[in-house]
Amino acid sequence: MSDTKFNLPEDRIPKNWYNIAADLPEPLAPVLHPGTGQPIGPDDLAPLFPMACIMQEVSAERDIEIPDPVREVYRLWRPAPMYRARRLEAALDTPAKIYYKYEGVSPAGSHKPNTAVAQAFYNKEEGVKRLSTETGAGQWGSSLAFAGGLFGLEVNVFMVKVSYEQKPYRRALMETYGARCVASPSTETDSGKAVLAENPDSTGSLGIAISEAVEVAAKNDDTKYSLGSVLNHVLLHQTVIGQEAMEQMEMAGDDPDIIIGCAGGGSNFAGLAFPFIGAGLRGGKQRRYIAVEPAACPTLTRGSFAYDFGDTQHLTPLVKMHTLGSTFVPSGIHAGGLRYHGMSPLVSHLVATGVVEAKAVHQLGCFEAGVTFARNEGIVPAPESTHAIKAAIDEALVCKEAGESKTILFNLSGHGHFDMQAYTDYFAGGLKDEEYDHAALDAAIAGLPEVAAE
Ligand SMILES: *Cc1c(COP(=O)(O)O)cnc(C)c1O
Repeated sequence: MSDTKFNLPEDRIPKNWYNIAADLPEPLAPVLHPGTGQPIGPDDLAPLFPMACIMQEVSAERDIEIPDPVREVYRLWRPAPMYRARRLEAALDTPAKIYYKYEGVSPAGSHKPNTAVAQAFYNKEEGVKRLSTETGAGQWGSSLAFAGGLFGLEVNVFMVKVSYEQKPYRRALMETYGARCVASPSTETDSGKAVLAENPDSTGSLGIAISEAVEVAAKNDDTKYSLGSVLNHVLLHQTVIGQEAMEQMEMAGDDPDIIIGCAGGGSNFAGLAFPFIGAGLRGGKQRRYIAVEPAACPTLTRGSFAYDFGDTQHLTPLVKMHTLGSTFVPSGIHAGGLRYHGMSPLVSHLVATGVVEAKAVHQLGCFEAGVTFARNEGIVPAPESTHAIKAAIDEALVCKEAGESKTILFNLSGHGHFDMQAYTDYFAGGLKDEEYDHAALDAAIAGLPEVAAE
């Protein structure tokens, strides 16, 4: 058996998703209606999501069965490999052991198809014809395009305009899978028209694109909305990652002390960490868990833990999460998948209760870490994933300093093959450590909605 690459056989694809809500000492704050400010029930969400996903969103059942047709699609790339980064350890001259779970082996190149396939399946089961969604850098759009195509659903993607123009290959990938992709803000929705009326040159944001996608689902009976991160059911679907990694760590004869993931909306971090955290909450080993975000979009480290909207036009329900304010537009860093004003309520709750640590890192250090990783391990990481690598290297160097051997496991959430322009810019010296606008952040946080239930 290899001591570097840990592969599980196909029949070890998990049979259940793991729902951390079953093990939380305190429940999450309720989701509130955007109009009334009162807690909402499943029926309020029915125009947007299939009932199966809504029930998962509010479920307290620990194990939720993965439908066979979903596991059948997972077989295309799961179980995903886990590696020990022996060459990286040697290059860093650290006594730490570094392992990484690699989610870039999926058809779309990231962890996102784990939930895209499940969401497409449930929508198809409930007779939905079309899915409406947003995408920033294009990873979610291409994942849903792939999954929707497999289940015979039309997929309509609102892609943030600046990315639409900068990343033509991601758009081409979505179209190859059969999806329709429009630049957001668009003239296809009232939300898009409202933004354009105010600012005809708007380059868009995830918050605006979400408004457009939600509006289309709310207005069309045959269309539902699909979100690639943040929500409980999305994080649930990602827990196949951590369940596999637990078995792979056993194969490796090791047990992680520190578990690390980058955090945009929180789903790949949660996917890896939640099964381990759950074991700890049930009395098992205590570990450190680190969610790593960009210093230019410091949701967990600088945001408020408060009720906020998920979108700019305030069409979504209010959820309690770490947020920079729905009007905050982060600067144009290359890790587009980490540029969101909000954060998963579950990850926020675990940070607020001290179970998970949050750390913010600057983009240049991340690219440096990504290049070091590529030169030693061969895989060119997505700019988002370099945030996890940076934190893993930092921890390995702390071990070196202390002469202490810890076992580190991080999630390599995707490859960077569609992001080579970012690397080109980095090598040309054209990147800088973007700061966020402190005054704009203060203003956005001051504008958070007032909510009675708090
Ligand atoms: C979308 C994306 C992320 C960020 O999303 P999370 O929900 O926080 O996981 C991270 N890495 C990659 C490769 C992505 O595509």
